[in-house]
Amino acid sequence: MLIIKDIHNLKLYIDTYEKKGYSMGYVPTMGSLHVGHGELIRKSKEDNQKTIISIFVNEKQFDNPDDYKNYPRNRGKDYDFCDKYDVDIIFEPSNEEIYKEKQKMLINKNFQNILCDKFRPGHFNGVITVLEKLFLITKAKKVYFGEKDYQQFKIVQSFAQSAFKNLSIISVPTVRQEDGIAFSSRNENLSKKQLQEFVKFHNNTCLFISELDQNIAIADANILARDFIKAQNIDRFDYFEFRNSNNLSSEGIISEARLFYAIYKGEVRLIDNLNLTT
Ligand code: AMP
Repeated sequence: MLIIKDIHNLKLYIDTYEKKGYSMGYVPTMGSLHVGHGELIRKSKEDNQKTIISIFVNEKQFDNPDDYKNYPRNRGKDYDFCDKYDVDIIFEPSNEEIYKEKQKMLINKNFQNILCDKFRPGHFNGVITVLEKLFLITKAKKVYFGEKDYQQFKIVQSFAQSAFKNLSIISVPTVRQEDGIAFSSRNENLSKKQLQEFVKFHNNTCLFISELDQNIAIADANILARDFIKAQNIDRFDYFEFRNSNNLSSEGIISEARLFYAIYKGEVRLIDNLNLTT
């Protein structure tokens, strides 16, 4: 396993892989790796001869400087994790390496003003800005994203369709802990009590969804969702609503929808999305 910190060296290895005709899968991450990331790596390894993972906490996608500062980072453990999953290359650039000259930000034009785009203005501009760079550097033909960040997956998919015609964006279902919540780097920032409360909230939410009639309109389910969330023990929330899984609109019935939430426990922002079969 290679750990590469600079673009120049990475390109040398990528060019060698390309010359040898190896298929390459790429998994972009912000580190603090867990089993969810592991599943993306596993899928890439299944589909490709070489797998490259990047670890880069992208300041440009954080709308809140404290959130950036407090984002969990655990280098040593991440290397061991990748080694266990038999990753070929870890690309771990510095800020200076990625943003050498003053960076012109790309503007996201898809799935705007809803869910995370509404509550984290500029977040997805930062996401597509760094991904454009990383897609160009890694030259990967297949890139893996988790459904955990479903709006991100949809936005990246639309972005790639217009800007990277030969790139496949592959989605991987959310991997969950035994207690039901999704594996997430941010879970590390919760106290024991906050974690217990979050698990309870999540499982109440699953129960709420399972008791709904599958044919109920998304708009009607959202009225019930508003009452449900008001009664929960959470510090605050940005959104808690059903949206159509295909186009993220509020049209259709809930069997074709997902429930999206972004809630807070203390200062920790937690997102997830669930469908009727989760
Ligand atoms: P992050 O490091 O949080 O930016 O995540 C990197 C990638 O891993 C993104 O595509 C996420 O959607 C994906 N991911 C994070 N958590 C999970 C999970 N529990 N299950 C599946 N994919 C995940």
